[in-house]
Amino acid sequence: MKNKFIFLLYFILSINFLVADNETDYVKYVNPLIGTDTSFELSNGNTYPAIARPWGMNFWTPQTGKMGDGWGYTYKAEHIVGFKQTHQPSPWINDYGAFSVMPSVGELKVLEQDRRAKFKHSNEIAEPHFYSVLLDEINTKVEFTVTDRSSFFKFNFPKSQKANIIVDAFFKNSEIKIYPDENKIIGISKNNSGGVPENFANYFVIKFSRPFKVSGVWNGKGKVSPKQSLEGKHVGAYVTFDTQENQIVEAKISSSFISHEQAWVNLNRELPDSKNFNDIKNEGRKTWNDELSKIKVESDNTDYGISNKTKFYSCFYRTILFPRQFHEYDENGKQIHYSPYNGKILDGPLYTDNGFWDTFRAVFPFYSILYPEKLGEIMQGIMVNPYLESGWLPEWSSPGHRDCMIGSNSASIIAEAYIKGIKNFDVETAYQGILNNSENEGPLSSVGRKGVKEYNDLGYIPFDSSINENVARTLEYAYNDYSIWELAKVLKRPKKEIDLFKKRAEYYKNVFDPETNFMRGKLKNGEFQSPFVADAWGGAFTEGSSWHYTWSVLHDPQGLINLMGGRKKFVEKLDEVFSTEATSDFSYYGFKIHEIVEMELLNMGQYAHGNQPIQHAIYFYNYAQEPWKTQEKIRYVLNNLYGDEADGYCGDEDNGQTSAWFLFSAMGFYPVAPVTMQYVIGSPLFNSIEISLPNGKNIKIKGGNNTKENIYVNDVRYNDIKYSKNWLDHNELIKGGNIEFKMSNQPNYNWGSGEKDIPYSMSKK
Ligand code: CA
Repeated sequence: MKNKFIFLLYFILSINFLVADNETDYVKYVNPLIGTDTSFELSNGNTYPAIARPWGMNFWTPQTGKMGDGWGYTYKAEHIVGFKQTHQPSPWINDYGAFSVMPSVGELKVLEQDRRAKFKHSNEIAEPHFYSVLLDEINTKVEFTVTDRSSFFKFNFPKSQKANIIVDAFFKNSEIKIYPDENKIIGISKNNSGGVPENFANYFVIKFSRPFKVSGVWNGKGKVSPKQSLEGKHVGAYVTFDTQENQIVEAKISSSFISHEQAWVNLNRELPDSKNFNDIKNEGRKTWNDELSKIKVESDNTDYGISNKTKFYSCFYRTILFPRQFHEYDENGKQIHYSPYNGKILDGPLYTDNGFWDTFRAVFPFYSILYPEKLGEIMQGIMVNPYLESGWLPEWSSPGHRDCMIGSNSASIIAEAYIKGIKNFDVETAYQGILNNSENEGPLSSVGRKGVKEYNDLGYIPFDSSINENVARTLEYAYNDYSIWELAKVLKRPKKEIDLFKKRAEYYKNVFDPETNFMRGKLKNGEFQSPFVADAWGGAFTEGSSWHYTWSVLHDPQGLINLMGGRKKFVEKLDEVFSTEATSDFSYYGFKIHEIVEMELLNMGQYAHGNQPIQHAIYFYNYAQEPWKTQEKIRYVLNNLYGDEADGYCGDEDNGQTSAWFLFSAMGFYPVAPVTMQYVIGSPLFNSIEISLPNGKNIKIKGGNNTKENIYVNDVRYNDIKYSKNWLDHNELIKGGNIEFKMSNQPNYNWGSGEKDIPYSMSKK
């Protein structure tokens, strides 16, 4: 009996193994709820379950927070108040063009606080393309699936004479109109958080599968009326059905930033009558699987291995949500867009909802490997067209220019794409935008270069000027000038121009203080600002202190090593980042901003993985010939600072950046300075990684003896040849090939630590 049982067990396990081996469904590893257990005070991601297609124009999400609250869905909430079409890239930027639908049963209550219904996570399914929840309080199940611009809802009502669906067109001016004979509602929601022209509007259309018995409108005070149209500050509509037990009402919803006519075009293109709910749902799953299967990771089938796969594919999902396509296709299939810059309807692509300060670091490099063709269209749609339509390259677009963060990182993104051979965009126009940035302040402090005159004249932005975050700006401009230098060479610009950007790329040296070995505010007279407090956040820096920004020399770590007095001193300083206490002086803000709280929770000293400025510095040991220190720290971060549950991030996820960091690092390499074409090697997380490139080639990364303990790189073979460099070259990588890692639980001090093994630095060439 016992033997029989063991045989049966063995049989079941082998079937499981076979299934696992041939699996093509990666959607099952994606958990869109990761990062949603979050709040203003403490970010565990600041995400919401974006039910969407990759780069979709419209996302949908269950809504637990109040209309206008950036924290639209939070994991600990107990009530759902609506199902919202959203375009929010971050709670700090908030939403635009939002509206919602919500079922109710019985007496009509239209406002969020009155119509809300309880739910439990055990009755909730969240997948990238599909969401389902039972609102047990009203015994109604809501399911929806989505396309690029449309959504398909199923409301499964109990038997009731008053099964209602409430449409909420939201505040900040809206309109609603019901067509009872056609089972249709159309509306306009104008809510936004800035960065749009006067004529901005989201035109939405809804078509129900059944006639409704009663319909009417309501206003923001909750006053209901039998009228069939209304316009005002905050309006909505309701429709009531007479339903039998388990009777399903379907609703197809779409929208357009152009017109209602275009919204119907979007609906009919994406949700044709020939396709039912399940067709669209299956199509959504396939669309996601087509993307996610481009990287196949394998691990041992332990909890640890499965958790790592969940983390990996959930991060993959987050990395290809933003930037969103904002363009639409007219009835002839022509790509057109409403310009959030000048309010006109124009031809061509438009992409938005992205903060380059975050995403230039790893999201765009990820696209350069997996999506070169798409990246060209994105460059045209997020750089060239916005520049043509507004006169400025964006730095934070949502949907137009927003005043947020610093830097001039559009230069890095454009230069990287073009230098990596992505040519399907108008680089000459983009370059004009770059030149314009390098000489001018913009209409907002985030656009153009704030402090550009001081930077260009003095070589740094003085601490005693009116320009805040001056050291951070100086450092970021210098890296971006390095990017321009590289691009200018490729574009064969005049020598004088090329030399100018080379010179400016070294301006980071001007804010380095050799006395303290820290980047430090500098006065107009050339003296350093005093007293110096290394752990003071803000002031000369952006969302960080000198502990974080001292490493912001992406293009020239060797130059920084030289400034610090050699690689021993450099390593000592870098070690200190991780070993020193997580103290902070937050007097600049007057309170502990969430990024500080998040750093304190990590137990990694001053290393603040919850925000971007220092996320690359963990790879800096490779430049100082001690790559094993990078390896152990990378694995610590992958294992401890990312999780597979609702609190799974250690700070803001930020439009894919913190996720793309995981993707790269889990594959074993990271783009420290994107424009250099190099990826610095860390410690791969999986036994096997296979990347299918669009050119038909594959990159196979094997780490056969990789375990939770074997975190150190003992040896690497690249296409069967011993490989001792501690970095990979982009052009070599995209030829495909086999990279074999032999891992160990002990550091190999010899691998990758020779002078000739280290990655690019401007000073070394
Ligand atoms: Ca951030």
